[in-house]
Amino acid sequence: MFRPDAFADRLSLVSLDELAGKGMKGIIVDLDNTLVGYGQEHLAPQDAAWIASALARGFKVALVSNNFTGRVQRIGAELGVPTVPSALKPLPSAFGRALRLLGTRKSETVVVGDQLFTDVLGAKLLGLHAILTHPLVANDWYGTRVLRFLERVVLGRVKPPNGRA
Ligand SMILES: [Mg+2]
Repeated sequence: MFRPDAFADRLSLVSLDELAGKGMKGIIVDLDNTLVGYGQEHLAPQDAAWIASALARGFKVALVSNNFTGRVQRIGAELGVPTVPSALKPLPSAFGRALRLLGTRKSETVVVGDQLFTDVLGAKLLGLHAILTHPLVANDWYGTRVLRFLERVVLGRVKPPNGRA
């Protein structure tokens, strides 16, 4: 449940070739600290480019966020992808909604996110693939900071020695 299928330093370093090779067709991207730094309004050009090239290659992409502000929809509209705000991750309902938006099967859908206890656990509860990234910025919502500490404890057990899988 806490074991990601792969690790990546950041979203834009996730290989679309590898995802295609594994038969992935749908990509669910976490917003805060995966696509956009926590509390920030704009995403980095390489991450916008990654989303654009995923769409151009025919991947279905959706954004999922525990955040409930208009910021989620605005960023989704900017990128031309559907969004599921107020996700209450890791409860599986939000990833279920995202899956219906994508129209892809569980076995061909991957969640990319920066948190073990929301993104990876949520993905695994529903039977989706999961890629864990490093958070974009060190700044976090206070509840997240507690989870980060627990993440380090759990990851110490599951992460391979070279940091990649
Ligand atoms: Mg996040």
